[in-house]
Amino acid sequence: MKTLAELGDLGGKRVLVRVDFNVPLEHGAVADDTRIRAALPTIERLRDGGARIVLVSHLGRPKNREPELSMRPVADRMAELLGTEVKLAPAVVGEDVRAATDELERGEVLVLENVRYEPGETKNDPDLARALAQLADVYVNDAFGTAHRAHASTEGVAHLVPEHAAGLLLEREVAGLTGVLDDPARPLVAVLGGAKVSDKIDVINRFAQLADTILIGGAMCFPFLAARGHTVGASKCAADDIELAAQTLASAEQVRARLELPRDLIVAERLADDAKAQPIDGVDVPEGMIGLDIGPATARAFGEAIRAAGTVFWNGPMGAFERAPFAAGTRAVAEAVAAAPGTTVAGGGDTIAALRRFGLADKVTHLSTGGGAALELIEGKKLPGVEALA
Ligand code: ADP
Ligand code: MG
Repeated sequence: MKTLAELGDLGGKRVLVRVDFNVPLEHGAVADDTRIRAALPTIERLRDGGARIVLVSHLGRPKNREPELSMRPVADRMAELLGTEVKLAPAVVGEDVRAATDELERGEVLVLENVRYEPGETKNDPDLARALAQLADVYVNDAFGTAHRAHASTEGVAHLVPEHAAGLLLEREVAGLTGVLDDPARPLVAVLGGAKVSDKIDVINRFAQLADTILIGGAMCFPFLAARGHTVGASKCAADDIELAAQTLASAEQVRARLELPRDLIVAERLADDAKAQPIDGVDVPEGMIGLDIGPATARAFGEAIRAAGTVFWNGPMGAFERAPFAAGTRAVAEAVAAAPGTTVAGGGDTIAALRRFGLADKVTHLSTGGGAALELIEGKKLPGVEALA
């Protein structure tokens, strides 16, 4: 993968940057600008180099060029953050857009309209890719979160522009995540939780081969516990997931990792803010009760494994942490990850939300915002948007 640093002098060149500006909107304005801020390092670097910058992103899922999904509020926010004018193109591609890119001065920024206004985007349509390529001398992809999709703006266009490279954000994501997979400091401990085994089974099975220890918490532990013959009461536990968990447990002899399940739990009659959280010894959930968090003995054991790790990968909360009675297990794991001396990598929308809630998001070595793309990379899949930057 070629990096920004490996590109030569960009002075005066038109650089098309695929960014992730898929931000939440409220009343026609940007409600959370985290993703726009995340793109600033690459954009600032290109401006410093005298490039003429063309930004392209998708926003929501437009069906029919809905004006509510225009990039206008994003361009406005970008202008505020950069402290300079940011232009908005009248469309994604076409003669007028091309003229707008030709008029750009060094260091100026133009935002293209929502790339999904073009139906060819998600089909990786060669005509759209060509039209995008005509807007650029250099292509930079900084949208790691969509790198697992072969779309015209993430894949097709990369092959049609003379020079291409990864942006700083994408480079950091790939380096942070592949660092877990390729020759990590050992022991490598994977902490996996969250809602469903079926969402994460490929991640579990990959770490079964790569990691030294897998710690399983969250609702995900119940199919494993059920497969081992424990009662799960009214806990989240789909029949299909028990089957998947049983297969993983059956192959335990042939894999590297030791799989550690909870040894105690927090249960309740219902999932509510004012529910009474009851600790139970052992992991047999009584009938009618719901397992909603790992217990304190499990949290201690998981914390010790995390502290002793050379590398930690964490995805998935340990319980229904959004509600205070069931947050302790996730908080304990978050604190252990934050304090761990080894390299720590955490990702997943709810995992990041948990780290933020506990004020620990800046205490991990690499916080991946890559979502599905990050999990696919961990699973060992090739990401088309990354491969195209080879
Ligand atoms: P991420 O977004 O970090 O990948 P997931 O989406 O897989 O994580 O799972 C997060 C969700 O799982 C949270 O909303 C959390 O409330 C829920 N969850 C975790 N443990 C339990 C449990 N024991 N019972 C019900 N929900 C749970
Ligand atoms: Mg989630």
